Amino acid sequence: MALINEHFLKLADNYLFSDIAKKVSSYKVMNPKAKVISLGIGDVTRPLPKSVCDAMHQAVNEMSDAKTFRGYGPDHGYSFLVEAIIKNEYATRGITLDANEVFVSDGAKSDTGNIGDILKRDNCVGITDPVYPVYIDTNVMAGRTGIFEDNKWSNIVYIPCTAENGFIPDLPPRRVDILYLCYPNNPTGTTLSKEELKKWVDYALKSDILILFDAAYERYIQDPEIPHSIYEIKGAKKVAIEFRSFSKTAGFTGIRCGYTIVPKELNGYSLAGKKVPLNNLWNRRQSTKFNGTSYITQRGAEAIYSSEGATQVKENIDYYMTNANILKNGLLETGIEVFGGDNAPYIWVKTPDNTPSWKFFEQLLFNTQIVGTPGVGFGPSGEGYFRFTAFGTRENTEEALCRLKKWI
Ligand SMILES: *Cc1c(COP(=O)(O)O)cnc(C)c1O
Repeated sequence: MALINEHFLKLADNYLFSDIAKKVSSYKVMNPKAKVISLGIGDVTRPLPKSVCDAMHQAVNEMSDAKTFRGYGPDHGYSFLVEAIIKNEYATRGITLDANEVFVSDGAKSDTGNIGDILKRDNCVGITDPVYPVYIDTNVMAGRTGIFEDNKWSNIVYIPCTAENGFIPDLPPRRVDILYLCYPNNPTGTTLSKEELKKWVDYALKSDILILFDAAYERYIQDPEIPHSIYEIKGAKKVAIEFRSFSKTAGFTGIRCGYTIVPKELNGYSLAGKKVPLNNLWNRRQSTKFNGTSYITQRGAEAIYSSEGATQVKENIDYYMTNANILKNGLLETGIEVFGGDNAPYIWVKTPDNTPSWKFFEQLLFNTQIVGTPGVGFGPSGEGYFRFTAFGTRENTEEALCRLKKWI
């Protein structure tokens, strides 16, 4: 008799985007002629950059010839990609990294979810609220979160980020051991300045806290003052793991490639109080449970660092950020309160008259045939907010804005 991990039962039917998909598909059944526009799920729509495709074609050719065929690759990524990441993403910002501090993977969702494998169940977890649901759900699976009451897990420390505090999280009200930060933020589209991020690094240094920093959207930063990596802050290598992804950067949501930085000077503690480098543990975890990202994928990822690749990636980012601008400015004209969208592909709006997020979702779908994401799906502080993405086509973004203006 196989006993199950009962923590999974707490999550049953709790996945935000499947709830949305169900509501949208039943609307479509009832209204088969409606032209529904989705500015909901956070997925890109632009095709892969040409240089990425060329590199992948070339890699396929290599795989078809016995002389250049490759089987299992290095667990943590081919050195051509690791070196390109270090050189282009970090050295340019004055951050030095060793090759064995970079772990290439199949994406940031797996890594932000799997990182819990190397951490004891009894850690107290802090999260900014609202945030990417993966952090909480994977901690639920690990049994770290306690019970769910009033839309909150009893053992999670929620750090609210709302219009009231300008979406700048205050230090947690009680001690945490692990803290998730996601900047630029999904879903609010807001960022932290260097000083604000420094506040967190200093706090983590002082209180021995591990920061899990998700920088999946760093490419969308337009303001040169905003940090792209937490390691731009002095001392951060002692307290932080950083997650990055090619998904939003270069359209790899369907190709799958990301990487995680675990600095060698970052330690966890054994129960006896002994310091243990987290790099060793993550290395051991990955080489046991993960067999590497495909060669073809890694060649594609490497190509974003060629000069044509970099230009093509920037064109796509500019396209989405123009959408963000159009949407944000258009919505501001209607008098709605709008946040984010300047350094991230997300627009976070306050629902008119404090309409609950799900009610607004339905009003919007029924009146304008636009799908967005209810803010409360990202956590209790998201109630009364709503997320639009800038990942649609230009045409759909403009059409959606037109409908929204008419309706509001
Ligand atoms: C989209 C997203 C990721 C992405 O992940 P991949 O698994 O690399 O596609 C990670 N973190 C956040 C906050 C995201 O929105």
